[in-house]
Amino acid sequence: MIGLLQLLGLAQNRCRACNAFFLGQEQGFICSQCLGSLKPYHPMDYSQRIEYVFSYRVFGLYDGILKEVIHCIKFHNSKALAHRLGSTIKNHLWEYIREVEPDIITFPSLNIRRFWLRGFNHIEHILTGAEIPCMKVFKRLDLNPPLSTLKKEERERAVLGHRLREEFIDYIEGKRVLVVDDLLTTGSTVRRLAYLLLSVGASEVHAYFVARG
Ligand SMILES: [Zn+2]
Repeated sequence: MIGLLQLLGLAQNRCRACNAFFLGQEQGFICSQCLGSLKPYHPMDYSQRIEYVFSYRVFGLYDGILKEVIHCIKFHNSKALAHRLGSTIKNHLWEYIREVEPDIITFPSLNIRRFWLRGFNHIEHILTGAEIPCMKVFKRLDLNPPLSTLKKEERERAVLGHRLREEFIDYIEGKRVLVVDDLLTTGSTVRRLAYLLLSVGASEVHAYFVARG
C-alpha cells in the first residue's frame, strides 16, 4: 500500500533529515536511524541563569536532526513523531526526574489559536512518548503569535498570558515542580511559569528542555 501511495506521490517517502527513502512500513518525516542517532549533547552549557528556576537540564542543541524533528512536530502537526521524540529523550529525562524528585510534572499551555491550528499540545505528547505522568496546571488567556517571532519587549508582555488553572492553586503549595518545554531560547516562558508557581507556594521549580536554541 505504501508503495502504491509512493507511486502516486501521496506518501511522504523520504526522511527530512537524511533524505533516505523510508523502508517498508516506516513512515513519518524522520527515519528511525536519524532518530536513533540523537544522543544527549555533552557538555551542555548551563551558564545561563533562568530567574526563579532552581535547576534545568537540556537534551540537545536546536540544530541538525533535532531541529528538523521539532520543526516537523510543530509545523506538520505530527503527533506520532512527538511520541517517537518522547521515547528518544526518555532515559535522559527520567534520569533528571530521579535527581529532582518532583511532585508535579507539567508543561506550558499553548494559546487557544495555536491549539486549534495544531489540534494537540506537542509537549504533552512528547511526555506521553517518554511515559511520564504529567498534570496540566497552566492555561492561556492570550492569542499571541509564537515567541520566536517577537522582539524581546513583546515576549515579556506575551508571556503574561500564561495563568495557573484555578483548581491547582491550593494543590501546588509546598510542591516541587518540574516544567518541561521544547525549546530554551531566552527562557522567558519558563521564567514566567516558575514565577506563577512560586507565587502560590511551590517549594522549588525545575525545568527540562528538549533543545537549546
Ligand atoms: Zn534519516
